[in-house]
Amino acid sequence: MDIGQQLVATIPERCRLCYTCVRDCPAKAIRITGGQAEVVAERCIGCGNCVKVCRRNAKQVAGSIDDVRRLLAGPRPVAAAVAPSFPAEFLELTHGRVVGALRALGFDLVCEVAFGADLVARRYAELISRHPGRRYIATTCPAIVSYVEKFEPELVPNLAPVVSPMVATARALRRRHGDDLAVVFIGPCIAKKVEAVREGIAGDVEAALTFTELRRYLAEAGIEPSQCEPSDFDGPAPGLGALFPISRGLLQAAGLTEDLLSNEVVAGTGPDTFMEAIDEFRDGVLDVQLLELLSCKGCIMGAGMTTTAPLFRRRTAVSSYVRERLWVPSGERRRAELEEFAHLDLMAVYAPHDTRMSQPSPRELVAIMERLGKFAPEDELDCGACGYRTCREHAVAIHTGMAENEMCLPHTIERLKESLDEINVSHRELASTQQALINAEKLASMGQLSAGIAHEVNNPLGVVLLYANMLLDEAPPGSPLREDLQMIVEQADRCKKVVGGLLNFARKSKVVRRRIHVPELVDRALKAVIAPPGVEVSVELRLDDPYAELDGDQIIQVLTNLAVNAVEAMPNGGRLRVVTEGDAERITLRVVDTGTGIPRDIVKKIFEPLFTTKQIGKGTGLGLAVSYGIVKMHQGQVQVFSNADPREGPTGTTFVVTLPRAAKGEPA
Ligand code: ADP
Ligand code: MG
Repeated sequence: MDIGQQLVATIPERCRLCYTCVRDCPAKAIRITGGQAEVVAERCIGCGNCVKVCRRNAKQVAGSIDDVRRLLAGPRPVAAAVAPSFPAEFLELTHGRVVGALRALGFDLVCEVAFGADLVARRYAELISRHPGRRYIATTCPAIVSYVEKFEPELVPNLAPVVSPMVATARALRRRHGDDLAVVFIGPCIAKKVEAVREGIAGDVEAALTFTELRRYLAEAGIEPSQCEPSDFDGPAPGLGALFPISRGLLQAAGLTEDLLSNEVVAGTGPDTFMEAIDEFRDGVLDVQLLELLSCKGCIMGAGMTTTAPLFRRRTAVSSYVRERLWVPSGERRRAELEEFAHLDLMAVYAPHDTRMSQPSPRELVAIMERLGKFAPEDELDCGACGYRTCREHAVAIHTGMAENEMCLPHTIERLKESLDEINVSHRELASTQQALINAEKLASMGQLSAGIAHEVNNPLGVVLLYANMLLDEAPPGSPLREDLQMIVEQADRCKKVVGGLLNFARKSKVVRRRIHVPELVDRALKAVIAPPGVEVSVELRLDDPYAELDGDQIIQVLTNLAVNAVEAMPNGGRLRVVTEGDAERITLRVVDTGTGIPRDIVKKIFEPLFTTKQIGKGTGLGLAVSYGIVKMHQGQVQVFSNADPREGPTGTTFVVTLPRAAKGEPA
């Protein structure tokens, strides 16, 4: 791993946006953009919580196997520095087999980081006794160090200026074996990968492998640890530092006991505890000399472990290993070894790197909250579904670009419901438009057909009429033939009218637009309608500008047809209203009756030529077809609203004809 490299990356195909990683990230380092959870390197403290909690294994940790492979293949001697939590990972193996497997991989030395923990513990004991007035935060956990540097920069001076056991071990080994020695840390922690490339530390440790990676590496190399020749660790041999990975380990090793009454030392582990402890430490509520914090519930719960064994099983594995080994070596030799490294440089320097989220102004906050549909305090549900503890924290994260509005579940559900309603409405509109289109298409093809027939029939009909009239002229008065010839002429005439109607419907005739006075036109149209006594006729003129450019004769025909139909639909009397309205662009003619109405299944057919529900001889089924054709020729449209069911309200029909005041593209 290199400086600046992303420690944890998301595999997009696996991420399902459950926001669990957001929720469990103490640094709030997970940004949701475009529906993807992405770890922001500058904010990440390497605690590995997101890796642990992701059920879909969508979080990938930067790999170090290649680095180690290169080191082992190179000319330098390489030491494996094994973290003291290893008994909790390799539950199925003796320590001898673990060491044997590492030697089989090619490590020249296999040593215990627990010895570094001993050195570090001693340094802590000195630090505290030398500076009785000072308050320290232990720096053994790299995630805690990162957290303080990034999110509690004011507390950086409180970070104990001591390296971690990993670094202490590496420095001790290089002191003993020479600076050419390359040290590879092997442990349960992914944050160590970042620590290994820190300024002032890079060079001490060359690479940090997790136990997970070690197992993979062994498998790839075809090494089966249980078959390996058992071997013992190379020194220096540790003492109680081996207890370090279970919480309170360091304190115990340093002979510092966690004693809340004496207020000297407090240990806290796990994400929630460590953040609370830091809060209290900062605020002075927690007045202790040394605060030892681990971001996991002890290193044995690190994100680089493969074991699924529960916490206490892991703790026992470590403590029984320590118990079993404590007698090696003799107290004499241990003292000598501690002396050997008494003056080893264990200084560490920490620097603030403020990455706290910028706070929105009160006005910005209100604006964001409103976008989330939160207008009053009771709208702030703090349900936590977004991964943030409160709606306000979510709003701050939105402000800094770390979160999205859509993460608010109640708000998103609300929005979804609204969208669904909108979709339903537009679906209904689409359905009716589709129906209208189908109708228009059907009418158009009928138009073509009827135009064809009408055209063909028109000429022979003319001939029939001509000859019938000629015969009629020639037949002497009183001839019995006259009556028959009269009949032929009459019926042929009727046929001609029908054919003419069909041609109109097919829009084969021409529109001759003239400037006309619409009210006058209505008047003339209604004159042609004989209303029976029971039908009351009224006209409402609501046109500001009564003039329009229309084919007057044709529009009169439309109005007459509609009015005749209306009257015929009111055999028992009723009311016929003709309303004219309009704006600058178009005029609307409304013909309203209180008649029988048109049943729903019939409405679709009424514009078809020759469709009629009236008795033979009474209806031709051409009125509406012709009217439709005329209106279309005027680039207008006809709508019909009707109710034929008395249970749904008063019956009746309204035809609405909308016409542009002038031909399109020409001034009115
Ligand atoms: P026709 O009047 O010769 O039957 P139309 O094309 O004018 O032919 O009308 C077609 C059909 O539409 C009518 O037979 C009638 O069933 C129905 N219709 C038209 N207008 C009305 C109306 N105002 N009220 C009830 N039904 C109507
Ligand atoms: Mg009619």
